[in-house]
Amino acid sequence: MADETFDPKGKTFTQRLTAFLAAAKKDYSLTITKDNGRTKEWQQKFHIFHMFLYNSYQNTKPANTDTGKRTISWSHFSDAKIIWNTVKFSDALRTKSNSIPQKEGQKWKSGHEPNEEATKRHIKLMQTNAGIGNSGKAMVSSGIKPCGEPCKCGAGRSKHLSSEAADLNSANLTTLTTKLKIAKAGSLDDYLKEFGLHRPLLNHPSSAEKWHVESIK
Ligand SMILES: [Zn+2]
Ligand SMILES: [Zn+2]
Repeated sequence: MADETFDPKGKTFTQRLTAFLAAAKKDYSLTITKDNGRTKEWQQKFHIFHMFLYNSYQNTKPANTDTGKRTISWSHFSDAKIIWNTVKFSDALRTKSNSIPQKEGQKWKSGHEPNEEATKRHIKLMQTNAGIGNSGKAMVSSGIKPCGEPCKCGAGRSKHLSSEAADLNSANLTTLTTKLKIAKAGSLDDYLKEFGLHRPLLNHPSSAEKWHVESIK
């Protein structure tokens, strides 16, 4: 049973989440960990990567795309004159030999220019290593407002940065689901609801996040 005394009305997301985590520990002896590693630099980096390779957003486009395309154009992404905002080009761009491109003033140094295929390979590897959902294809919200170069898409800033959302450990949530079932205490979503929480991205068509929790509005 959840803590019957908790009333989510008027409570902030952080208060609701804290109550939920405490109840899971008290009632089901389960410590659920949450992702605290989201900084604006992290968000913006993986946002730019997403907008360069995929762009799963329905109504949002980067400022510079090729005709008929929805992703950041390679000509813009690899333009030596563009000053990137929050993210370093050295985090994204790679030369043919998979090293960091080098600038000479506002131009790439000869023999050290970025290469499209090597850059795509490098970014996909970074997405996989960071555990981005849907095999690296899941949407990642901007870390800054407004979104800056080399994307400048106008997409909203991540709710993770303003304490309106949290990603909980998937394995922990699966364990809790099982424990709730054994206790005949309903589903995970029923349980979350007692704390005024829900999983709005559970059934998202292109970027489902079963671990993503927000307040019920
Ligand atoms: Zn953007
Ligand atoms: Zn999330």
